Amino acid sequence: MATMTLPETEVKDNKKSTTKYVYSFGGGKADGNGKMKDVLGGKGAGLAEMTNAGLPVPPGFTIQTEACREYMKTASSSKDVERQMDEALAKLEALQGQKLGTGENPLLVSVRSGSKFSMPGMMDTILNLGLNDKSVEALAKRSNNPRFAADSYRRLIQMFGNVVLDIEKHAFDEVFDAKKKQKKTKLDTDLDAKALQEVIAEYKKVVKKHAKRDFPQDPREQLVMARDAVFRSWQNEGAKVYRRINNIDDMLGTAVNVQAMVYGNLGDTSGTGVGFTRNPAIGTKEFYGEFLMNAQGEDVVSGVRTPVPILELQKVMPDVYDQLREITTRLEKHYKDIQDFEFTIQDGKLYMLQTRVGKRTGLAAVRIAIQMVDEGLITKEEAIFRVEPNQLYDFLVPRLDEKSTKVEVLATGLPASPGAAVGQIVFTADEAVKMAGHDTAKKPVILVRAETTPEDIHGMEVAKGILTSRGGMTSHAAVVTRGMGKCCVAGAGDIDVNEKAREMRVKGQVFKEGDWISLDGTTGRVIKGKLGTLDPSPDDPELQTFMNWADPHRKMKVRANADIPRDAIQARAFGAEGIGLCRTEHMFFGEEKLPHMRAMILADNEKDRRAALKKLLPLQRKDFAGVFKAMDGLPVTIRTLDPPLHEFLPRREDLMVEIATFPHAGTKEKKELLKRYSDYGAKSVGDLKRLLSTLLARVEQLHEFNPMLGHRGCRLGITYPEITEMQARAIFEAAVDCTKKGIKVLPEVMIPLVATVKEMANQAAIVRRVADEVFKEKGSKVEYMVGTMIELPRAALVADEIAKEAQFFSFGTNDLTQTTFGFSRDDVNKVLPTYLAEGILKQDPFAALDQEGVGQLVKMATERGRKTRPTLKVGICGEHGGEPSSVEFCYRTGLNYVSCSPFRVLTARLAAAQAAAAETLKGEGGRTK
Ligand code: PEP
Ligand code: MG
Repeated sequence: MATMTLPETEVKDNKKSTTKYVYSFGGGKADGNGKMKDVLGGKGAGLAEMTNAGLPVPPGFTIQTEACREYMKTASSSKDVERQMDEALAKLEALQGQKLGTGENPLLVSVRSGSKFSMPGMMDTILNLGLNDKSVEALAKRSNNPRFAADSYRRLIQMFGNVVLDIEKHAFDEVFDAKKKQKKTKLDTDLDAKALQEVIAEYKKVVKKHAKRDFPQDPREQLVMARDAVFRSWQNEGAKVYRRINNIDDMLGTAVNVQAMVYGNLGDTSGTGVGFTRNPAIGTKEFYGEFLMNAQGEDVVSGVRTPVPILELQKVMPDVYDQLREITTRLEKHYKDIQDFEFTIQDGKLYMLQTRVGKRTGLAAVRIAIQMVDEGLITKEEAIFRVEPNQLYDFLVPRLDEKSTKVEVLATGLPASPGAAVGQIVFTADEAVKMAGHDTAKKPVILVRAETTPEDIHGMEVAKGILTSRGGMTSHAAVVTRGMGKCCVAGAGDIDVNEKAREMRVKGQVFKEGDWISLDGTTGRVIKGKLGTLDPSPDDPELQTFMNWADPHRKMKVRANADIPRDAIQARAFGAEGIGLCRTEHMFFGEEKLPHMRAMILADNEKDRRAALKKLLPLQRKDFAGVFKAMDGLPVTIRTLDPPLHEFLPRREDLMVEIATFPHAGTKEKKELLKRYSDYGAKSVGDLKRLLSTLLARVEQLHEFNPMLGHRGCRLGITYPEITEMQARAIFEAAVDCTKKGIKVLPEVMIPLVATVKEMANQAAIVRRVADEVFKEKGSKVEYMVGTMIELPRAALVADEIAKEAQFFSFGTNDLTQTTFGFSRDDVNKVLPTYLAEGILKQDPFAALDQEGVGQLVKMATERGRKTRPTLKVGICGEHGGEPSSVEFCYRTGLNYVSCSPFRVLTARLAAAQAAAAETLKGEGGRTK
């Protein structure tokens, strides 16, 4: 075999006046090269690179992404595209000594999509193009295998019908299944040539009926139609959703790869397969993949037949196996990354169809990065870019708690994507969305399908886990869930899934929609019923090694948002370097505190309010002491009370109903009501009636049309200063007490929802006064700071003024996004799906910081604040603090820290490390996406 030198071919365009739309490859030479992913797509670039390296690649040409972009604009292909395609086709025909779909030895081609980023299963593929009523006979003669020829033709009609002519798959499946029934056969391969010819005749009728035209017999017409269908498939719903989830630019477009067909279904010395150079699920260094003899590519990935582990190929065809290993090892060395490849064996000869950087789980990404550093393939600096920050979640995914209940394993499928999922069965993606809403935590569902397709993506997104009865480790379900970091068991063949009847049968038992099952994506087990789940430990030694490489690059600190000691301890274990936000209102939801909190709210005079606050003081002090202890030596930012008070009270409508129905209620109902309202001070049924009326009156007083813009934040502390006083007292008493016990306490008191410097001054004065009082009483002092959240546009505008009073800023980007866009953060989902679908917004601005708009405010406030106070400490504590692109933005903007929920701390650490390292190393090229 030729040695692998991969020349970086200069691309020369002969006709300078026109764009080069079509790039040929074949005969050891390619017009393009592996670096041209933007132009040729990942697949096309890989084919060019492999061809240049002298690997056995079937020749062909790539129509570049610009042609797709133009097609999206004009819904047609230009004359230049047509001309260049015809020239490339003529070149291919000359190289092969064949003519497309004509003559005794007709050239047949595959037409595949391939964009810059691989989008598994999203785009469409057509095989055997060029076959028609005539060339099928030539193929039968040439291959001396009429069955194979007929099978190839019927596959073409089916794929072409579905992908190009938009005919539903099941229209063809019905014909095929009926034929199998008629011939009393079980396997596709049992149908003989005659039966397949009958299928072809039926398929043509299906085409005529649904597409109102004949299946095109002209090979060039087939090619043109297929090319345009690939362009159109860029706009498939599934593709759009995938791009949105993975943050891929809608304007990239796809390339089209046209390549001479090689056949894996020519008989027992032919086959096809896919594989990875290392295990993409758990990262072990093993040759990994699957294949099928006497089959075509789609059979392996679509899950129609369950493939065989690739190691078996060593037994079936040892020479081919060795050659495959040699080639893929070289490819991995060249690309310095795990390769995901496709191959076909035609009559004992190996062809490489594709190679690309392999997608992998977070677990595998970390392990493989470490292996590759050990093997000298990459440096430690490069290694830190080999893991997407969000992938670190995988180390934190739950496991099944097998002790929680009796484990009855129903079936074992393939461990397609690790982790555990427990939920209620649904059989369709729509049902998944209906049951779970758009929140996986709301109602856990497990999407059970025979196999998944891109049309299921919306259901997969909301499901806790996915179970399929067909398909392998590279099936759509497996690849997509791995990318989502979601548990998946694939190819559990013992399970009979009947999507129509909405049931699955296994081990003689029937499971219906709504029944509970548990999945173990790490072992592939499907378990009956609702098991508990166990939190994973983040102390994986390889994860530690990896983070020890990443962390030194980081210049920004990473803190956690945590309100209770348990969360603080958890966050610290994940590497949090402080608490960036302790939402004190969350501390009041405890059973012992809620009655006092409610009494405080219901008080309509200062005296009663102070009495309730007095009861809250020791409880708050205890909470703060717990958090300080957990964060010994690290800063803790405590925010004074923020939320609208009505959140602690019953709903107005509920109260009205209860008042109206009270006179007719029986003793039992009245007792229940009493229990429910005991928190509000109801001691007897007699009290209840009066209490309900008082409550309603107070709730009505507190009622606000727009509570998010209402009596909350510093406005509470300004109208009721005694609340801030109590909280400051609790903070400083706890701080002094802890210090006396040897705990190093660094409190930062944070005032929320500030819009003017006077608000800040008002609250800071209270905090400082109370601090002095406590220090005097206790005879001991602690260092502390008073700062503010920046979560209103006005605060950003006058940040220079506010910085006169505030010693630190923390961006509350949840509210800042809400107030900048004027989107209610609780109701945005009413418009967001349409906005995303229409491309009005590219991303949910509450998930990823809107750098263009909200980001400007962050930048401006930081600059203005530091103008007044050059040492101003600036952080972020909105949800964006744990989202990689936002973290990178924060780094660029010069923030001192980001703060996020404990489970995102690892992600934020890596994102912050990558942001800093990218600047010094220009290491972006090492990213895996
Ligand atoms: C924010 O608004 O970003 C913030 C952190 O505060 P909360 O989410 O509690 O309003
Ligand atoms: Mg806020």
